[in-house]
Amino acid sequence: MNYICEVCGFFFCRMGEVNECPSCERNQIRSVTEEETQRLQELPDSISER
Ligand SMILES: [Zn+2]
Repeated sequence: MNYICEVCGFFFCRMGEVNECPSCERNQIRSVTEEETQRLQELPDSISER
């Protein structure tokens, strides 16, 4: 399962349940879908193309 922290935006994956972000240790994480995972993994650095 993949998760993302809504506080710091940290993206990580864990087996099973996670209650807090490994980065900022808040408990505002949510699971992300397969689709979102792919989108997050190929982060568009150059979002401002012209
Ligand atoms: Zn966090």
